Amino acid sequence: MMMNDHSSDEQPSRKLIIAVDGPAGAGKSTIASRLARKLGYVNLESGAMYRALALKAIERDASFDDEAALVELAQNLHIQLEPTIGGNRTLLDGRDVSARIRERDVSEAASRVSVHPKVREWMVARQREMGAGGGVVMEGRDIGTQVFPNADLKIFLDADPVVREQRRMAQQKIKGDVAASVAAELRERDRRDRTRAASPLVAAADAVVINSSLLSEDEVLERVEELVGQKQK
Ligand code: C5P
Repeated sequence: MMMNDHSSDEQPSRKLIIAVDGPAGAGKSTIASRLARKLGYVNLESGAMYRALALKAIERDASFDDEAALVELAQNLHIQLEPTIGGNRTLLDGRDVSARIRERDVSEAASRVSVHPKVREWMVARQREMGAGGGVVMEGRDIGTQVFPNADLKIFLDADPVVREQRRMAQQKIKGDVAASVAAELRERDRRDRTRAASPLVAAADAVVINSSLLSEDEVLERVEELVGQKQK
């Protein structure tokens, strides 16, 4: 007879793959990291991988338009994402670049290197390896459409552009003249994400779209937890 330590109502929940996609400033990182903590899952920020590659390209003086050179750089990179309470600690070839990759030049470069199909192919393959075992909340732009088209739950978190810009400014404590140029950069990166030929930012057909413009963080999290609960049944 097979021994089973768990009676049926004590079965450990299945370890889901949860995709959280959406534009910058919609609140993905906060929701993904809070949700992962609550579920005891790992939160992986796929954007940090594009940012790490972008930083390497800056350091090596590689052109952001040279797809072949970028792929070669990627193939020789060692990127580690370590989930922490405040988000992913990102290591590039063993060096902690978590703060550096959030700077404006890297944000711009990440947006540009991520348009290349072969760069994306490399990233997607790594991301699939990282999330394959489940128990993961992966956040990005194409998680539900490309990385895990069979994810157990897909959330597309959106918010009105003005709200997203304001949130980003508050988060990064940006004020005054700089705010206008940072907002313009954010809009341009958004436009690039939505209009690129390879894996443009779009909600998967089976994603649950949540517009967080008028919702608090807690309200969004509550809604997402409800959806997770339905999937775990
Ligand atoms: O999410 P984050 O802003 O850190 O991502 C940095 C950039 O990487 C984005 O502006 C986007 O262009 C790109 N990205 C992507 N696909 C992902 C995650 C990020 O194209 N899955």
